[in-house]
Amino acid sequence: MIPYGKQHISQHDIDAVVDVLKSDRLTQGPKVPEFEQAIAQYCQAKFGVAVNSATSALHIACLALGVGQGDIVWTSPITFVASANCALYCGASIDFVDIDTDTGNISTLALAEKLKQAQINNALPKVLIPVHLAGQSCDMQAISELAQQYNIKIIEDASHAIGASYQHTPVGNCQFSEITVFSFHPVKIITSAEGGMATTNSPILAQKMQQLRSHGITAEQEHMTEVSHGPWYYQQIALGFNYRMTELQAALGLSQLSALDSFVEKRNQLAAFYDEAFTKLELSPLVQMPHSYSAYHLYIIKLPKPDKQKHKALVEQLREKNIFAQIHYIPVHMQPYYQQLGFNLGDFPNAESYYQQALSLPLYPDLTQEEQEYVISTVQSLI
Ligand SMILES: *Cc1c(COP(=O)(O)O)cnc(C)c1O
Repeated sequence: MIPYGKQHISQHDIDAVVDVLKSDRLTQGPKVPEFEQAIAQYCQAKFGVAVNSATSALHIACLALGVGQGDIVWTSPITFVASANCALYCGASIDFVDIDTDTGNISTLALAEKLKQAQINNALPKVLIPVHLAGQSCDMQAISELAQQYNIKIIEDASHAIGASYQHTPVGNCQFSEITVFSFHPVKIITSAEGGMATTNSPILAQKMQQLRSHGITAEQEHMTEVSHGPWYYQQIALGFNYRMTELQAALGLSQLSALDSFVEKRNQLAAFYDEAFTKLELSPLVQMPHSYSAYHLYIIKLPKPDKQKHKALVEQLREKNIFAQIHYIPVHMQPYYQQLGFNLGDFPNAESYYQQALSLPLYPDLTQEEQEYVISTVQSLI
């Protein structure tokens, strides 16, 4: 069976994890800060804060930006549920900005319109979470100009996009955002088994996130409310969590990072090969914007028009042929939990029509030419 994505684990990765197992520190040792610095350096950001998942990173990123009861957060409906759930964890409310169907990313036009309306209704969001779908950055310059105009903070959900660049600089440098979040789940570009990272250029946000990932506790005198009682002393100064990454995960992530550029290059080569094959069919890949280099977490093609029956049949027939195509994503506002919050079918029409067109074909570094040709010929015969 050919999945839509999977990890590549090298002997180097295995050795790195085994070395940690043989060491004294399985958690809270040297590997996590090493991984944080390596990611920050790779992304050209000042700080990296490692956590046990991107979901946790999104949660503490929202908290660090002060999201709470009475606040509003906006994100894309075409994303994994975690991009929206993080706002609800903080007691805030969530709303969505419809997508541009060419790229699957949030539409800057829809965003501009919605902001204008929200200002009139006195319901502007505190934070916007653009999602870099499939590994291609959103148009961050345009988004950040709008955000500044309305005094809105930005968290980039770059779970798909480590290794990508936008305007020739790495995604994660936070040039157009306060915080960027990455996921290291095995299906993503690089993995730490489970794991996530938040990058930022703000020392204050970095410090807040470091505290929140570890119970809201500090052992640093400068953050304490009184003089330390002694070398054992720590203070809890916020209500935090245990969102820490282990040393095993950090060692795996570090080792994987050394292969990141080659993974992304391979993903781009495979995507180009698919593009060429599908231009002859009536299937359109997501449009790639100029000055954008996608990390190609996913290879998404779209049927020429929304067609529930045809779409479903294609996925089912591919699975019968052992090709596990997947749909990214079911629009979040269509999930029962979100319907119960008051969202309705028809709220975000572009996202809903995209849902009936899009499908993700297998794409990962170890996909062989033979397998890719099998996927292409199978899709061709079914279409
Ligand atoms: C995978 C993913 C997440 C969650 O990542 P975890 O590390 O599994 O918590 C969040 N947002 C998007 C867009 C994702 O694809």
